[in-house]
Amino acid sequence: MAGILFIISAPSGSGKSTLVSELRKQVSGIEFAVSWTTRAPRGSEENGREYNFTSREEFERMIAEDVFLEYAEVFGNLYGTARHSLDEARAAGHDLLLDIDVQGAAQVRSRLPEAVSIFVMPPNPTVLRTRLRNRSRAEGVVNEDELFRRLRQASSEIENYEQYGYILVNDVLDRTVAQLEAIVQAERFYRNGEPIAIRSRRVLEVATGCELRNSQERVKPVLEAFGILGNTGQQELKFEEDSDDD
Ligand code: ADP
Ligand code: 5GP
Repeated sequence: MAGILFIISAPSGSGKSTLVSELRKQVSGIEFAVSWTTRAPRGSEENGREYNFTSREEFERMIAEDVFLEYAEVFGNLYGTARHSLDEARAAGHDLLLDIDVQGAAQVRSRLPEAVSIFVMPPNPTVLRTRLRNRSRAEGVVNEDELFRRLRQASSEIENYEQYGYILVNDVLDRTVAQLEAIVQAERFYRNGEPIAIRSRRVLEVATGCELRNSQERVKPVLEAFGILGNTGQQELKFEEDSDDD
């Protein structure tokens, strides 16, 4: 049975790592590709678990040796997926999940158009800012410039949402986890004929509702809040020092 390649992208702080970690607890047979990065470890991150941490020099050597399926520069650091992650998952017949940015996702889609791509959005800039700040506090490093940079970058990433097959708006965590799980199960059903038992109809309905073509109603308020559709949200994008939401 051929494994399915899932790509998940999201603006930083949207909750993608949280969702992926919940998915991995609840769904078996899906591997997570540990990327290479030149950024420094954050909080409790461990080399080889969240990322393979390396130097820019070493990363550039790996690029020259064609080690990467895709790579991109994000927030001033290089990130890349090694080809062998895909080869190993394929050999084992496992599904593989890539947590990569919009540039990397475009590279993978052009090489492997059968990949299933999922874009996660935060509900609005205010929630995103709160999540970014809470995470930084939990990790003991609040860097306001970095927060500001990630918040500003969010809208330009969200503008790419139409390149993805499924859209999740990560508002209520449990619901978003259930939607992500439904997408994985539905794709296994469509591609491999894998049975999804009694809950099958509901699972397929949930996954279908997350497809890009069925997402307009859920996505519209997010685009408005980020100032991508109309001008209503432009004010919210201004990163003010406020204390009302955290
Ligand atoms: P990302 O991987 O997209 O950068 P994280 O998974 O690290 O984001 O989440 C950023 C912060 O938001 C974390 O503190 C996480 O616990 C919190 N978070 C994630 N999803 C939700 C949610 N649906 N509701 C509230 N907080 C969330
Ligand atoms: P962070 O530094 O917050 O862990 O990740 C920053 C961004 O880099 C996120 O959007 C994340 O998806 C992306 N990223 C992580 N690994 C890779 C990778 O291997 N390739 C690409 N292109 N992006 C990655």
